[in-house]
Amino acid sequence: NDVLRLEGVGKTYAADGPSPVTVLAGLDLSVARGEVVALVAPSGAGKSTLLHIAGLLDTPDTGRVFLGGRDMTGLPDRARTEARRRELGFVYQFHHLLPEFSAAENIVLPQLADGVSPRVAQTRATDLLGRVGLSHRADHRPAQMSGGEQQRVAFCRALANQPALLLADEPTGNLDPETSDKVFDVLMTLVRETGLSALIATHNHALAARMDRVVRLTAA
Ligand code: ADP
Ligand code: ADP
Repeated sequence: NDVLRLEGVGKTYAADGPSPVTVLAGLDLSVARGEVVALVAPSGAGKSTLLHIAGLLDTPDTGRVFLGGRDMTGLPDRARTEARRRELGFVYQFHHLLPEFSAAENIVLPQLADGVSPRVAQTRATDLLGRVGLSHRADHRPAQMSGGEQQRVAFCRALANQPALLLADEPTGNLDPETSDKVFDVLMTLVRETGLSALIATHNHALAARMDRVVRLTAA
């Protein structure tokens, strides 16, 4: 009952050139339903490569990627894009919110693009903003919010399409330590309350220790 399963995943950059770089080799990794897994990796160990492969943004050279038990290996781009939109939520170190839209609009718009009705999209946005303590910021633009508030809105946006799996790359990495801890608490509460599965890359060992399991990447 794994939401995500990587089997024997390998990736080599510049494979045809004079100096190929093997980043991942024979990697097995799974995230069970409702499980929150920390991904800890020194810089250059292939954390971004792994997240891109799990997020169906890149394909491995060897091995297989299963999402919800479905083999995604070799699916056409269109099917991968659809699976990405339907089953995955993404959070990055930087929020990537649309600056000209309000917090609520940033959460509503991706849902509309996925065919959710405006009424349902608005209801979900209101509910999510309430859960992260930002009801009073619904009509504010990103520039009118603090870094921690912006990141909390980004969490709401990632969850708005009710994904099966959240992929996060240093979700509190650009915040000062104190804010980072608080915002991370909000993320964990949100993940637990919604029963979401998550793979969360972090350099912060204290944060990693609070997840269900830690996967350490070492140089291949
Ligand atoms: P991390 O996120 O852990 O720092 P990455 O997955 O970004 O690691 O990269 C791992 C290694 O692969 C690094 O040595 C990086 O330079 C190399 N690499 C990443 N992308 C490419 C690419 N497109 N072409 C060649 N080398 C790459
Ligand atoms: P464990 O807790 O079982 O010791 P780790 O957390 O150390 O496992 O790593 C998780 C899995 O990922 C292990 O199977 C390990 O061998 C594998 N692994 C770690 N780094 C890499 C890498 N760069 N390429 C391929 N597999 C890796």
